[in-house]
Amino acid sequence: MSIAPIQTIRTQVLVIGSGAAGQTAAIAAGRNGADTLLVENAGFLGGISATLPWLGFHDRDYRLIVKGIPLEFCRRLQQAGAASAHEFDPKCASAISIDSHWWKILLMQLMREAGVRLLLHTQVVDTIREGDRIRGVIVENKSGRQRIEADVTIDCSGDGDVAARGGVPWEKGRTADGLVQAPTLVFKLGGVDRAAFIGGCKDPAVNYREWIAPYPDLREKMMRRIDRMNVIICGGYARLVEQARLAGDFEVPQSRVVGVKLHRPDEYLVVMTRVLGLDPTDVRSLTDAYAKVYEQIPILVKFFKTYVPGFVQSHLREIAPMLGVRESRRIMGDYLLTGDDLIAGRVFDDAVSMGGYHIDIHRPAGTWVDSHNVRTYTIPLRSLIARDVDGLLMAGKCLSATHEAIASTRVVPICQGQGQAVGTVAALAVKAGTSVRQVPVAKLQDTLAAQGAEFGRTVGEPNWQVIEEVGQLPFDEPPTTGDKDAASSVAAAWVPATIK
Ligand SMILES: Cc1cc2nc3c(=O)[nH]c(=O)nc-3n(C[C@H](O)[C@H](O)[C@H](O)COP(=O)(O)OP(=O)(O)OC[C@H]3O[C@@H](n4cnc5c(N)ncnc54)[C@H](O)[C@@H]3O)c2cc1C
Repeated sequence: MSIAPIQTIRTQVLVIGSGAAGQTAAIAAGRNGADTLLVENAGFLGGISATLPWLGFHDRDYRLIVKGIPLEFCRRLQQAGAASAHEFDPKCASAISIDSHWWKILLMQLMREAGVRLLLHTQVVDTIREGDRIRGVIVENKSGRQRIEADVTIDCSGDGDVAARGGVPWEKGRTADGLVQAPTLVFKLGGVDRAAFIGGCKDPAVNYREWIAPYPDLREKMMRRIDRMNVIICGGYARLVEQARLAGDFEVPQSRVVGVKLHRPDEYLVVMTRVLGLDPTDVRSLTDAYAKVYEQIPILVKFFKTYVPGFVQSHLREIAPMLGVRESRRIMGDYLLTGDDLIAGRVFDDAVSMGGYHIDIHRPAGTWVDSHNVRTYTIPLRSLIARDVDGLLMAGKCLSATHEAIASTRVVPICQGQGQAVGTVAALAVKAGTSVRQVPVAKLQDTLAAQGAEFGRTVGEPNWQVIEEVGQLPFDEPPTTGDKDAASSVAAAWVPATIK
């Protein structure tokens, strides 16, 4: 038996994963002149960003805080008639609903335009490490095994695969027990009667959005707008779920309807399948999770048709191509971003992107979520550079952040903003022939600013008009709502400094 020699591929910047973080990293690196290769395990680009609406372009004051390439994505999708406008919401600030398939098509086009080379259906199986330097990865695909050598490698795998195989420190799950946020396989229902659905939202007894229910002023504002809203975020219907459970029609570890009325009039995205105790880095655990969520989908389809206003004629239209893993390995970097940084709205000297989405922990061992509002915060370059080694950056779910902080930074636009930052700094480093840490922060920030990225320079005043129209939840809402989960992250593992 003869073993074929391993083919070697050379690139300046290597990006692993094409999700929200990897897509912008690759495009930014390519546009900034670096020879860039993007490796993706799936047969399409986009990762989880291609399966759901994007939340969190705005902060609590309804100011646009993610701009640059992510905002360009929105404009390109909107120009193609494949996305809604940003819809404002008092809990999530804003949401834009996209056509998943057009997003995959557009991403291919954007990669081509940026000169990014692609390797799809290709999985990282090992990391090339020489001393304290990460030199690239080993991949496997239909062609066999290849060695990819790179000046800078960017881990946007969502699982920190490059870091883990390269002996770079990482953490997973909450401090108390290592459990990660519950994962969800999202699916789409078609044939929804929009008018009947909105009728249900208007019924206070249905309580489709629990966050705003205690605030009559906010609810009234929402009711004034709801008929013309293109994207309607739901988190509630607790009584209907309970009724179904008592009737034996709801065997899912969830206590609320979580979902989004999408911009297509008859479409609704269900975000309710759920698995407790997943280890996303263990293939048996993952396989088991897939088996469970596929069992839950028919139960949920029947639940919607039977119990939820507007869904009698609905049908299962689409199941997302990959399980939505909210949290996996977080790579430890030069700085560890914390929940307290977010709540305080910390402004770092080496800020390269921003966020303002609330801390939104899908309870690892309970139902629904723990939430805590945050101020508009920045993300420092140091939390995007892997600790103890040279040549490795990360973004998205792999960010150097705690379990609590990642629960805010993980939404699509905030991951995309980080991606633009790491792609840009990688390109600047290879152009200068230096390590990433030697790139002057001011030069990086000026480059990012010139390319439209936001990290605090041009945020401006609160958007008073939207504040008036939509309203704001109090910053100090109780940190948890809904079911109290004895082992919940807030209760057991973490009390933010500000509420101690
Ligand atoms: C169920 C669910 C609902 C959510 N809802 C919303 C929402 O409504 N709005 C919102 O803005 N955010 C939402 N989020 C958060 C957000 O979608 C994700 O956190 C974000 O998209 C993560 O981006 P990422 O690039 O870090 O990772 P991913 O999107 O997971 O991308 C990682 C990519 O790397 C590839 N990959 C992994 N391992 C390897 C390997 N070894 N070799 C090669 N390729 C590899 C994967 O195939 C994937 O394409 C949700 C998340 C989940 C799970």
